[in-house]
Amino acid sequence: MEIKVMKNILGENDRIAAENRKFFGEKKIFVLNLMGSPGSGKTSLLEKTLEKLSGKIKIAVIEGDLFTAKDAQRIENIGVQVVQINTSGGCHLDAQMVKRAAESLNLDEINLLIVENVGNLVCPAEFDVGENLKAVVLSITEGDDKPLKYPLIFKESAITLLNKIDLIPFTNFNLESAREDLMTLHPNLKIIETSCTKNIGVDEFCAWLLEKVGEVN
Ligand code: MG
Ligand code: ZN
Repeated sequence: MEIKVMKNILGENDRIAAENRKFFGEKKIFVLNLMGSPGSGKTSLLEKTLEKLSGKIKIAVIEGDLFTAKDAQRIENIGVQVVQINTSGGCHLDAQMVKRAAESLNLDEINLLIVENVGNLVCPAEFDVGENLKAVVLSITEGDDKPLKYPLIFKESAITLLNKIDLIPFTNFNLESAREDLMTLHPNLKIIETSCTKNIGVDEFCAWLLEKVGEVN
């Protein structure tokens, strides 16, 4: 009966996710669910993005992590309002966790809420948390086989950030075939090549975010 249990869990999650979506929608907040493997560079990319967007829009962050508050501390250091969710080993965020975290934030005047999910390419894609769109960070160092191995997360995401692109000369990552696989999985997918250390693509990502924020206002 495992299948049935999973269905019920997802049904309950979807119900709370819909409530979250309504709540964020009424507040005119664009919510991005930022996903990707551990070490893909989600937090670094988020830091660069927040630095560039500061002064342009008001942003809050929910940081999902297995145990520590290290990533939340990094966000707080930039002066952005952040709340930490520790899943105590749980490998994804669900709608209830995001609901509780959102309740502890002051969301008045916030335009953009970024939810950094737990590092994992599998189940974060299955759990709607009430976001407007999902994004996935794929590091060049993870290999070009990941889109076909973990198709759901790339199908579910509106945007893929090919991160650490500056390291490509040191890997056998085939950019052309990775792009081809991504476009086969998701023809409308937006793909941006990024590097935090070389400041590549972050401005383009910021512009994409600003456009999306504009659409809910
Ligand atoms: Mg992180
Ligand atoms: Zn999980």
